[in-house]
Amino acid sequence: MVADQNGQIDQEVVDAISSLGNSQRLQILLALDEVDQEHQKPWHTMSFTELYDAVDIDSSSQFSYHLDKLVGQFVSETSDGYRLTYSGSKIARVIISDVYDSTSTFEDSEVSGVCLFCAEPSLLATLDAEQFRIRCTSCDAILITDFFPQSQTRERTSAEVIQSFGYRIWSMYIQLRGNVCPECFGRVDTVVDLYQHDGKAIHLHVSSCRECQHIISIPIEVAILFHPEALHLFWEHDISVPDTPLWELFEYMTSDTITTTIVSEDPFEAHFEITLDDTTRCFSMDDTRTVTPIQCSNVQSTQ
Ligand SMILES: [Zn+2]
Ligand SMILES: [Zn+2]
Repeated sequence: MVADQNGQIDQEVVDAISSLGNSQRLQILLALDEVDQEHQKPWHTMSFTELYDAVDIDSSSQFSYHLDKLVGQFVSETSDGYRLTYSGSKIARVIISDVYDSTSTFEDSEVSGVCLFCAEPSLLATLDAEQFRIRCTSCDAILITDFFPQSQTRERTSAEVIQSFGYRIWSMYIQLRGNVCPECFGRVDTVVDLYQHDGKAIHLHVSSCRECQHIISIPIEVAILFHPEALHLFWEHDISVPDTPLWELFEYMTSDTITTTIVSEDPFEAHFEITLDDTTRCFSMDDTRTVTPIQCSNVQSTQ
């Protein structure tokens, strides 16, 4: 934790962040990053002189002063020279990709798929308060929301930006399967929670990170869709689940393609039936998110 109970931030953190507030120091980070890129391997070192020559600065004493401010947190000093630390490399990535630029432009676009709550095919991808959102224009439910950096919108049409979100969601999801936080790679804890809108409730897996407190919610049916047997069943019907954005899968969750039966809320247990054409596969899920294929005759049909 970086803040105490009164919300006071550790002085170390304040010092580290403020040590970046200087053009020459950022130039040092970028010079070290550039040399990594040139040698196509991370952790390439530069000598004091090489680094000094790469930065626009008048005196070596001034250069030493700025370099000193970075050593430890962002730059590591080794017997071979200087190199970026993990944090230094992250900061360099952030500067180069311009994620600090303010909000990107993005055209509202209708997207395929139906609303998880009202089942209407009225989904709109939109930019709202600097967040990407998939919103239902019929019942006003917000189905997906996420921040996005400028770099995600560059060199992409609006349709391609939307598509890139589809893949970002799956990359987050794959990490959450292993209890890894997609933001800081710390450990996440996942619980089942109920989300209600317009009189309809859906069950979500809500994952929160112990380290950075980042929270991500995903419908529990996604864990079923990513079971290898389900992936295979969809693939046999020409649907590649990882290449289909989450919102396009909502129609399977609101129709008879995937039926969910909550067997028990505490401890959590649910049964699922997936039917595509004349093939049906059944699964159960427990409170640890473990998905197990079961005989369909064993599926409980009442809630
Ligand atoms: Zn709706
Ligand atoms: Zn985290």
